[in-house]
Amino acid sequence: MEIKFQNYELLLRHKFGISYHSRLSTPAVIIKLNQGEYEGYGEASLPPYLGETQDSVISFLNRIKLRDITSFNDLIDLSKEINSVSINDYAAKASINIAMHDLYGKISNQSCYALYGIEKSPLLFTSYTIGIDSPEMIIKKIEEAKSYKILKIKLGTENDRKILELIRECTDKPLYVDANQGWKDKYSAQEFVNYLAENNVLLVEQPFPINNYEDSAWLSERSPLPIIADESIQTIRDIDWAKNCFTGINIKLMKCGGITEAYKMIKKGREANLKIMLGCMTESSCAISAAIQLSALVDYADLDGNLLILNDPFTCNTVKDGQLKLPDGNGLGIIPDKNKLTI
Ligand code: MG
Repeated sequence: MEIKFQNYELLLRHKFGISYHSRLSTPAVIIKLNQGEYEGYGEASLPPYLGETQDSVISFLNRIKLRDITSFNDLIDLSKEINSVSINDYAAKASINIAMHDLYGKISNQSCYALYGIEKSPLLFTSYTIGIDSPEMIIKKIEEAKSYKILKIKLGTENDRKILELIRECTDKPLYVDANQGWKDKYSAQEFVNYLAENNVLLVEQPFPINNYEDSAWLSERSPLPIIADESIQTIRDIDWAKNCFTGINIKLMKCGGITEAYKMIKKGREANLKIMLGCMTESSCAISAAIQLSALVDYADLDGNLLILNDPFTCNTVKDGQLKLPDGNGLGIIPDKNKLTI
């Protein structure tokens, strides 16, 4: 098995604003594996908060030992060996794991979801993210999101109630609210969550800072809405404590290390009675398609990363009228755009 990789900057359609940060692009590394006549693509997306960079991904990729895979068990074994190379580097690990799935799906003439025994069925509606922005831009983005059935609203500001009121003047669609750690006081959070529940909001993500377990548990106990951990949890190891603090968890391939780890987290999360959301970073259709392979197993899907970028280096229809769809074709079902990729 051979590997090639290329740095790639994912350019956002709009400035991406959350409670503590905003940006216009997200660095990524696209990788390609070759085995015989087959090729498989993977992606590491690198939002600043996870601490990985294009250089750290490439340094990781240069340290791993690859070999041909001839069965799904081989893929799982090789993934384990690669994961043992370092204790962090989860986006780098995800890129290899995703690419191996694309590759082995093609070798074995099947889609990735079939490798996990998942049957083809109608999928969830994905939420479409409206970042923090000026009132004019929020209205414009809601208009652009016409075909999506659920919107995910970024809050965690001084003006949360005003933003919600503005949104409710434009649409009565169901909403997910993501506070991105922006709420400070548990009592006002509780009051606001009650208000959200009366306004067709379906869940709240990451109300408090990462390590504020106490207030998260306090709010989860009292909230009429599921309280979902995002930044607070990363890998399967976090589930044991997260089940005592949150109603659910947001699993992302870039946080946990890829499809195999996400699958294990879904199973363990279910055993712990947690609601499961499958989310994403700013990602191309490569990593989004990888997550969609598991989306039949979860309660909520927030897989809109590829819809928010201008220069997707892959073609793949991941969504129709707001509903996720399993891509056709073997592996991930993605088609590389050779005009954008050099590998
Ligand atoms: Mg989030």
